[in-house]
Amino acid sequence: MSLVIIGTIAFDAIETPFGKTDKIVGGAATFAGLAAAYLYNPVKLIGVVGEDFGDENLGIFKSRDIQLDGVQIKKGEKSFFWSGKYHNDMNNRDTLVTELNVLADFDPVVPESYQDCNYLLLGNLTPQVQATTLSRLRKKPKLVVLDTMNFWMDTAWDDLLQVLKQVDVLTINDAEARQLSGEYSLVKAAEHILKLGPKYLIIKKGEHGALLFGDGQIFSAPALPLADVYDPTGAGDAFAGGFIGYLAKVGTINFNNMRNAVILGSALASFCVEKFGTERLRELTQEDINQRIARFTALSRFDI
Ligand code: AMP
Repeated sequence: MSLVIIGTIAFDAIETPFGKTDKIVGGAATFAGLAAAYLYNPVKLIGVVGEDFGDENLGIFKSRDIQLDGVQIKKGEKSFFWSGKYHNDMNNRDTLVTELNVLADFDPVVPESYQDCNYLLLGNLTPQVQATTLSRLRKKPKLVVLDTMNFWMDTAWDDLLQVLKQVDVLTINDAEARQLSGEYSLVKAAEHILKLGPKYLIIKKGEHGALLFGDGQIFSAPALPLADVYDPTGAGDAFAGGFIGYLAKVGTINFNNMRNAVILGSALASFCVEKFGTERLRELTQEDINQRIARFTALSRFDI
């Protein structure tokens, strides 16, 4: 049994009101894998990098016991590169550069050792590659979670609608939910999106938490109010990794476990934003995570 994650493994250059980085390691699968590995083992990645990525950067995954048999290294080519800039309101960002590089003709390989996958996170990348990955697993996983973003709604709308028909859970942010549904109300947006294929929908609202829709119910999770947010990059992916990592750990899919999974996702995302890039997600202890969950519980518990 395993948790398989596909997504970008990238270089990012980030600017926030608190600083600026040159190329640092990022990517959807990177953040999601690092988050999930705190909750479940084995985590197996599928992705592609260029020769420029280097062994030292791959060591980030190896040191966390994350398996890389499905990660292709393309000789003489460059890794996916993304650059973004956040302003004072860090819920919004401008994408400055998206260079697909190795992602442009990425053909995902699903190694034999990954065919035991029962939890699959189709992290953010080309919808057509997400669909191909799913089709290359001989056994349909117990749970398929898909994360995507506005870039793919703008550039690969039909492919995205096609792959959505095959997933159990979709995670997107509020602006993307509105774009996908054409509805402003998030309740109406959820009704619309749940007819497109996913049984459950999670709408992430940055520092305002997340909403889970499904089984005719809604759950609202807070985001932890943090004094210092340095870099929101990867929070959505860390959320998705924490979410599916928790469900893989408990092994039963129902609305109550999904609620808890949303809290675990929110907790991992709250760590992610405390430092630039992957730094914070590489240094956590189980005790850090337990304490944070306790803070989440205390934050919104009430007894009328
Ligand atoms: P998030 O902040 O959760 O949306 O994720 C940011 C990460 O997604 C960065 O590390 C980027 O490398 C990666 N990323 C940015 N644009 C894309 C894209 N179009 N497809 C896949 N990954 C992307």
